[in-house]
Amino acid sequence: MSSNQYDVVIVGAGFAGLYMLHRVLATGRTVRVLEQASDVGGTWYFNRYPGARCDAESLAYSYSFSSDLEQDWTWSERYAQQPEILAYARHVADRFDLRRHIDFDSRVASAVWDEPQGAWVVATSQNQILQAKVCIMATGCLSVPRRPDIDGLEHFSGNFYQASQWPTEPVNFKDQRVGLIGTGSSGIQAVPVIASEADELTVFQRTPNFSVPAHNKVLDADWVDAFKKRYAEHRENHRQGIGSGFGDLAVLPQAGPIDPVLFESLTEDQANSILEAAWERGGARFMGAIGDTLMNPVANAFVQNFVHQKIKRLVRDPETATALCPSNHPIGTRRICVDSNYYETYNLPHVRLVNLRKDPIVKITELGVQLQSEHVALDTLVIATGFDAMTGALLSMNVMGPEGFTLAEAWSEGPKTYLGLMAHGFPNLFMITGPGSPSVLSNMMVSIEQHVDFVMGCLEFMGDRDHQRVEPSAESQSGWMQHVQEVANSTLFPQGGSWYLGANVPGKPRVFMPYAAGVGPYRLACDAVAKAGYRGFEFA
Ligand code: NAP
Repeated sequence: MSSNQYDVVIVGAGFAGLYMLHRVLATGRTVRVLEQASDVGGTWYFNRYPGARCDAESLAYSYSFSSDLEQDWTWSERYAQQPEILAYARHVADRFDLRRHIDFDSRVASAVWDEPQGAWVVATSQNQILQAKVCIMATGCLSVPRRPDIDGLEHFSGNFYQASQWPTEPVNFKDQRVGLIGTGSSGIQAVPVIASEADELTVFQRTPNFSVPAHNKVLDADWVDAFKKRYAEHRENHRQGIGSGFGDLAVLPQAGPIDPVLFESLTEDQANSILEAAWERGGARFMGAIGDTLMNPVANAFVQNFVHQKIKRLVRDPETATALCPSNHPIGTRRICVDSNYYETYNLPHVRLVNLRKDPIVKITELGVQLQSEHVALDTLVIATGFDAMTGALLSMNVMGPEGFTLAEAWSEGPKTYLGLMAHGFPNLFMITGPGSPSVLSNMMVSIEQHVDFVMGCLEFMGDRDHQRVEPSAESQSGWMQHVQEVANSTLFPQGGSWYLGANVPGKPRVFMPYAAGVGPYRLACDAVAKAGYRGFEFA
């Protein structure tokens, strides 16, 4: 083998790429990782905007593959901040001696299948070329930032920042008039922190999102010790749950799964007190408090109304409060946000909400934002306008299979995969948390580990039988995609008009991309496929 030939090439050194690398190395295969950033961490490398923290609880949003690692690492808060999560990724890279297998600042420009060689030829923008029998895309679901198509953005002469491409050096908001565009999870986390420093903050909101309080806190050492003693049970509970794999950290695993309470079995008072308790406990699990919130429009409307009342109580100015109440989508069908003092921030005298539905942005000027009614002068403009989610990174790399068509062509009507792991026509190309798997609807750590374990199982299966090539059959792929859509259509998700559907990117096909049945049922489906000799995959 020449020095640029490997058994496996992995694209991305975020949490998926790091664990994939660790597992491949353990089998003695040759492997190289290509990473566009200058360090490990993926999304947690780039999203260093003020207030960035995980919306999954620290003790669940961490690797489970090494008991020593989970016992040794100490999380300081219920919801870890970005620097702590990045430090964890760095720690993992060092602890398992992964760095020397990674090329940083290496952005993949193309991946082309070479039929005679039976290998992927992967080229980077830095003119590096690698060849590998297997290519594993660990490129993340939210890794291609989206710039809004607002007139004049490039003419702004003040300080300009994008949340998902935040600079590594500190950013100062003191004595600044700051404007922020975008009120999804990123904007909602950034607003209170920017407001605590800036002279003035103007938030330009096109569509409000539902947000629940995090009630973040410093973790109690005794509680953590007790939790860590039963870590294996907790992890199992996260993996097998019908939900999204976040588990219920307050519930002991031996108590068994909690039966979801259905709305129709509750009186109005009971429903309100369940929601009140979930609101007080905080976090995204609020969405699971009433079990059919995402299936039953009546239940959903009740929960929406509950949150509207909360917003109206938290925000003093009635016009601002009304503008902050989402009314264009069922709650939870766009990713629920988890905040620390977001709504309360609008009570501060130097913070103002501009409702773009009533007063749209005409253009960005050199000195600020020109609304229909007035010009808002700014020193600093922050945009938190989201991502080309789930398919953006995969389609940006010019992936070409043996038939001479690209992944972008194959997915021109929306992504098509088998199990969210592979696409027909693209042999030996695996995706970690690809479209068609629970991915963004789940605890990413749970889904990443499950996919990596599945890929390793498949590679071992091939090695044992001397198979050189694997891809899903067209039939198994179309059957799976049909199932993914059926599951989505049995929920309210398709009504959300969110990035789950590609609705935030003009021209992107509207297809509900993640698999909405929950991590437990999905794992069972994958295990059954593996047990049946990787049913639905074709080997050669
Ligand atoms: P997002 O949810 O897609 O929100 C983008 C925001 O930008 C929306 O409010 C959108 O308004 C607005 N926007 C886009 N174009 C605009 C325009 N031309 N004019 C005015 N507003 C515009 O993006 P995000 O906040 O970065 O979050 C994306 C996902 O990343 C989240 O859903 C979550 O999964 C993940 N995330 C997680 C965490 C965490 O773990 N804590 C933190 C941040 C992000 P419209 O709705 O009107 O388009």
